Amino acid sequence: MSRVIDNFLKVKDEVTAACVAAGRPESDVKLLVVSKTIPVPVLMELYDFGVREFAENREPELTMKREVMPDDIIWHFIGPVQSNKIRKIVRLADVVHSVESLSQLQKFERIAGEEKRNPRVLLEVNVSGELSKGGIAPEDLFQLVRCASECNNVHVCGMMTMAPFEAETAELTAIFSRLKELRDEAGQLYEIPLPVLSMGMSGDFPAAIACGSTIVRIGSRIFEGIERISR
Ligand SMILES: *Cc1c(COP(=O)(O)O)cnc(C)c1O
Repeated sequence: MSRVIDNFLKVKDEVTAACVAAGRPESDVKLLVVSKTIPVPVLMELYDFGVREFAENREPELTMKREVMPDDIIWHFIGPVQSNKIRKIVRLADVVHSVESLSQLQKFERIAGEEKRNPRVLLEVNVSGELSKGGIAPEDLFQLVRCASECNNVHVCGMMTMAPFEAETAELTAIFSRLKELRDEAGQLYEIPLPVLSMGMSGDFPAAIACGSTIVRIGSRIFEGIERISR
C-alpha cells in the first residue's frame, strides 16, 4: 500500500479511537484532508481511494487544483480571507471555514447572491487570544451570528478555531470547550442551527474530538514523508 494511504488509514483509526473514547459515533466526525502544498498526483491517490473532500488555504493553489482534479470533489477553503479574493473563493469553494468579520460575512453574502452560489460558511473564532491567529474575538462573535441568521445566500452552519501549537491538553480542552459553549449560546440566542465545529489538527485532534469537534482538519500526519510543492 502507498505511503499516503497507509498514513490516511492510521489517522482514520485514531479518529475512530478518539470517537470511541469520547462515547461518540464515528459518523459524528469528518476527517478533512488538508491538501495544501501537496502535489496533485498524491491527492489523486487519495481520490482513487475514495476521498472526495480536500482543504486548501490559498486561492491560487485552490484554483489550480480545482481545475485539474475531478468535478465531484468538495473543496474547503481554510486560509485567511483577503477581501479582494472573496469572489474567487465564492466561485471555487463549497465550504469556507475562515470568515472572521462582519464586513467579510456581508461581502460573502452579497457576492454569493451575485454568483448564484450557496457556500457553507463557518465563523472563525480566536478563542485563545493569540495575536498571530486569525478569527474574531469571542465578544464580537454575537453580532456576526446575528448577521448570519439573516443571510439567505451563504449558509452559516458553525464555527472554526485553531489552538496554539504548543498548548498542553488542559489548555486545548479549555479552548475547544469554549468554542462549543459559544456556539451553543449564540445559536440559541439567534435561533440558528450551528451543527458544525471545525476544530482539531494533526497535533491536537483527539482533544478536539473529546470536546465535540465535528470536523478535524489534518495535513501533516497524512502527508508525513511526502514531498511538498515549494511556494
Ligand atoms: C495547515 C492547516 C491545517 C492542518 O494542519 P496540520 O497540523 O498539518 O494537520 C488545519 N487548519 C488550518 C487552518 C491550516 O492552515
